[in-house]
Amino acid sequence: MIQLIRGFKDILPGEVELWQHIERTAQAVFAAFGYSEIRVPIMEKTELFARGIGEDTDIVEKEMYTFEDRGGEKITLRPEATASIVRAYIQHKMHADDPIRKFFTIGPMFRRERPQKGRYRQFYQIDAEVFGIESPYLDAQMIYMLHLLFERLGVSHTQAHVNSLGCPVCRPNYREALLALLDRVEEQLCPDCKRRKSRNPLRVLDCKVPTCRQAVTEAPAIVDFLCGQCQSHFDVLTRGLTQLGVPFALDKRLVRGLDYYTRTAFEIQTTMLGAQSAVAGGGRYDGLVQSLGGPPTPAIGFAIGFDRLVEILAQEQSVAAAKPAFFIAALGDAARQAAFQWCAQLAAAGAYVEMEHGDKSLKAQMKRADRLGAAYVLIVGDSEMAAGKAMLRDMATKEQSELALEGLVEKMVESLSGRKAD
Ligand code: AMP
Repeated sequence: MIQLIRGFKDILPGEVELWQHIERTAQAVFAAFGYSEIRVPIMEKTELFARGIGEDTDIVEKEMYTFEDRGGEKITLRPEATASIVRAYIQHKMHADDPIRKFFTIGPMFRRERPQKGRYRQFYQIDAEVFGIESPYLDAQMIYMLHLLFERLGVSHTQAHVNSLGCPVCRPNYREALLALLDRVEEQLCPDCKRRKSRNPLRVLDCKVPTCRQAVTEAPAIVDFLCGQCQSHFDVLTRGLTQLGVPFALDKRLVRGLDYYTRTAFEIQTTMLGAQSAVAGGGRYDGLVQSLGGPPTPAIGFAIGFDRLVEILAQEQSVAAAKPAFFIAALGDAARQAAFQWCAQLAAAGAYVEMEHGDKSLKAQMKRADRLGAAYVLIVGDSEMAAGKAMLRDMATKEQSELALEGLVEKMVESLSGRKAD
């Protein structure tokens, strides 16, 4: 038996309803803030991610699914959506008529991480990006939008963690101060961090290895090194979050794994996920559009870990699978032929109807209707066909009534539109 690939998973009926519910809720919330959906390919040239995400990141160093296609081109299954959306923004010159654009996208991402609970090799993200707005009010609004989405979904126990990563003006000063500390604790760092230290010392703050975490407890905080503009950006952000009633905490260690962030970095954390506490993360990346060949464009975005959101919600609620409005229990060839036609007509009118295709007893058919959760069963056999009427059984009240076969489909559709209201 061929099994699926390690770290990959199926989303089966019974689970998928919750995914759909989350998608619909996210689309509705994003629409209210003016975000349009964008769909980008799941493969891109490797160079896009190498340059966009940064050569020194875990993702690019060790996690990407990269291969040569049959034409010898180096391509990668996308590990995140931001770089692709930036590429699309530049490639289609979307900045030309109006640089302000707000996008969201929902889809699979691929990272070859060690699979564990809450961490998969194909996982899903709900991603949003805004281009062309520099104001920190947008940062606050974006975090508020996430907060609102989680609230709508009924996710409790969340908190925004925010930090500022400064900008090319102030970060070099911080880098110096951090390097001085890292030099002192070098012996305690893991081999990865020893290597990272000189190229990208901020990444050491993000390392999960306990000795590295211990080593950086005394590290200086980047918020103590911000330039005037970054400081006022951060002040407006935190004031905005307070104004909008978003619970948040200043998290001086939050740097996030990607190289491109500037100023605002944030995560939404929850106590409901054990070790993998981040359910969403994002930040501002004011330099990325230009570094990938576009005009200077401020930008900010986030990605929600869809799988983790589903895990949280599955603990708290379930979304019922669709149940048929009618089950047609047909007995005999003539009835089955008629039922087959009614089913097609009812489906065309938007009603979900099931029937028995095999030659089963009435008892077996009633059992199946019950298992599917059908609201009504229409019972029709040879004698009913001859008499021009069928029996309609209300599965909740067990009441039965006769229904003329003439105009049957119209009557069934009518009874449904009445029921939809309740
Ligand atoms: P990132 O793109 O790394 O900033 O991640 C954004 C969010 O995606 C995280 O907060 C997680 O919730 C989720 N995520 C990242 N990697 C994985 C993974 N391998 N499996 C499941 N969810 C993930």
